[in-house]
Amino acid sequence: MKSFQCPVCGNTTSVSPFQCKDYTVSKESFGIYTCEKCRYAATLPQPAPQDIGNYYLSEEYISHSDTKKGIVNRLYHIVRKRNTKDKLAVVSRFAAVRGSLLDVGCGTGYFLSVCRQNGWQIEGVELSNSARAVAEGRIGQPLFPSIAALEETGKRFDVITLWHVFEHLYDVNASFLQLKHLLKPEGGTLILALPNPLSADAVYYREYWAAYDVPRHLSHFSPESIRLLAEKHRMKVAAIIPMKFDAFYISMLSEGLKGSGKLKAFFNGFRHGYLSNHKAGKDGNYSSLIYVFK
Ligand SMILES: [Zn+2]
Repeated sequence: MKSFQCPVCGNTTSVSPFQCKDYTVSKESFGIYTCEKCRYAATLPQPAPQDIGNYYLSEEYISHSDTKKGIVNRLYHIVRKRNTKDKLAVVSRFAAVRGSLLDVGCGTGYFLSVCRQNGWQIEGVELSNSARAVAEGRIGQPLFPSIAALEETGKRFDVITLWHVFEHLYDVNASFLQLKHLLKPEGGTLILALPNPLSADAVYYREYWAAYDVPRHLSHFSPESIRLLAEKHRMKVAAIIPMKFDAFYISMLSEGLKGSGKLKAFFNGFRHGYLSNHKAGKDGNYSSLIYVFK
């Protein structure tokens, strides 16, 4: 076993590591190492930061594009519209004021544009040049290519959102602190949406679970591990909200990775999405969770 040290709790024992394949781009395999104590899981080895861009070079990496080809992509766009409404509802509910909002990893800017329509002053960070160009066209203002570039402006925000982005970042402690310092010191709210490797769909699909998405996802946070990370850096979990559509979407994608045909992927994915949500109704382990930190 490769050496493992949990960046959240410091524990050095991992349980049942297994190999996961990068199905979308490189076809290379990476290990998933889960901390025995807090259930944080790491993708190992991590590609070097200067190489990670190569793993995003795919037409299929739809979270960065606006393609509408194929049934799963069409479904993605329907779910995105609904998800955007839900995300805005979470922001409105937990923000102390309707002021400034930063979306990190804003992709093509869909969520930001909806926020602005609803009265928010918006800023965005997007590393991908092509996605950022689309977003800048959509919202008609320049965006930042990195968190570091934004830090230089000295701006602080009432709300910072990362919708399925934090799992892509290197050095979870430094990244969490960096975000915390971008919040206004009084009443700032940090919102992270993360896949949950303890969900029933994650356990069922295991190495085929689409939300492992190695090596782009470097971290896989259990609810316990993200709570520990926040508390270590003096923030508190104010709320945890399920994203129930993700169980269906991720299960359908996972069926595809297992080699199921389109129709089978749709029906099996629907079934396992339903089962996952049903189980999560009892233990809270939904496929994806939104964490609100204060
Ligand atoms: Zn741990």
